[in-house]
Amino acid sequence: MILDIVSYPDPRLNRACAPVREITGEIRTLVADMFETMYASRGVGLAAPQVGRPLRIIVMDPAQKESPPAPRVFVNPALERSGERILSEQEGCLSVPLNYRSDVLRYSAVFVTATDLDGGCFAEMLSGFPSIVLQHEVDHLNGVLFIDHISRLRRSLYDSKVKKWLNRANTA
Ligand code: ZN
Repeated sequence: MILDIVSYPDPRLNRACAPVREITGEIRTLVADMFETMYASRGVGLAAPQVGRPLRIIVMDPAQKESPPAPRVFVNPALERSGERILSEQEGCLSVPLNYRSDVLRYSAVFVTATDLDGGCFAEMLSGFPSIVLQHEVDHLNGVLFIDHISRLRRSLYDSKVKKWLNRANTA
């Protein structure tokens, strides 16, 4: 089932999410729906708060543009950032309206530990684009959007654009 995506400035995107205590059938269904929603929106990653569920669950498929599907699920992910700071160019987000994009500083690699859908723990090192997608999605679990990382000036310009867009939508 394709779920509705929560959009900025919805306050549900600013909250830290709770850990998943047990992998239930309900959690598996949510993950399947998150994949369907992500692929339908042509996104490369989606976090549960983006579909209004305040849980520490991420789905992603950073390879989808050039390769066969390679879906990944991370439940309760914990990140250790490593490597140097790199520029993530023209980052965007399914929850950030007006197709806004901006460069964001990220780390070049992350070591992640997480739970899979069988309840097993795994750990791995990610670098390059998958690592950037994972950092973006883990931010969502902590109530952080990529626009929280941009300069104050760029942010206020963006916020005024959103305000105008929302006013127009409300009066239409
Ligand atoms: Zn996002």
